[in-house]
Amino acid sequence: MVNTANATRAEIGVIGGSGFYSFLDRVTEVQVDTPYGAPSDSLFLGEVAGRRVAFLPRHGRGHHLPPHRINYRANLWALRSVGVRQVLGPCAVGGLRAEYGPGTLLVPDQLVDRTKSRAQTYFDGVPLPDGDVPNVVHVSLADPYCPVGRGAALKAARGREWEPVDGGTLVVVEGPRFSTRAESLWHAAQGWSVVGMTGHPEAALARELELCYTSLTLVTDLDAGAETGEGVSHDEVLRVFAANVDRLRGVLFDAVAGLPADGERECLCAGALGGMEPGIRLP
Ligand SMILES: [Zn+2]
Repeated sequence: MVNTANATRAEIGVIGGSGFYSFLDRVTEVQVDTPYGAPSDSLFLGEVAGRRVAFLPRHGRGHHLPPHRINYRANLWALRSVGVRQVLGPCAVGGLRAEYGPGTLLVPDQLVDRTKSRAQTYFDGVPLPDGDVPNVVHVSLADPYCPVGRGAALKAARGREWEPVDGGTLVVVEGPRFSTRAESLWHAAQGWSVVGMTGHPEAALARELELCYTSLTLVTDLDAGAETGEGVSHDEVLRVFAANVDRLRGVLFDAVAGLPADGERECLCAGALGGMEPGIRLP
């Protein structure tokens, strides 16, 4: 018996592909609109290890949204509006070091933004449809990921005998094309670890909404500068992702179980606005 009030609420969000919700016995599809427009898709709410979880297919259920067209603001806002306070964000990435080959799970602790065209703040001074004008707010993103969420993700991976790389820098490019060989060599020469297209502005927006955000990156290929062949192909990315999606799902579910209970967050994310009056009412 599903409690209908509870069925439309969740405490943990997972932003990933359809593989993460389609096998749950019972999901409630909830359409959420936001002041920023529609999210990528409906939220699919269900239960994992006794926790209420909202799944959101980042690219839409038909995978029709390229990374630069995803409405990241609407996605995070929609999750928060159903009660989500902690978010796990798995994504496919390219490895920038030869030792980070396909199948590597890396839980980054740093982020570099090389995107170009994305709305990446809620605090841009533009009035909302309801007339509220956001104040100028600068949140800290020195440590872009939730330390507690990272710990839960690492523990979950080890529990499934998938030794993760603990830490590293995710550089996020605009896409949808892959990097040139020169760009890739430059990224690697900076000491950055993996390259993807969706990790930003997801992490930054989560921080602005005082959400805990943890990135789990699955390496699907070696990026152009780290290998000697033809460079990345989309087919290769999909093949490696499919081969690893089951165990990644297992890690995510164990990570969900390991996150602190609602109302017991003691990390920096929960107080990111530091009592500032943002001028927008967080949902
Ligand atoms: Zn946190």
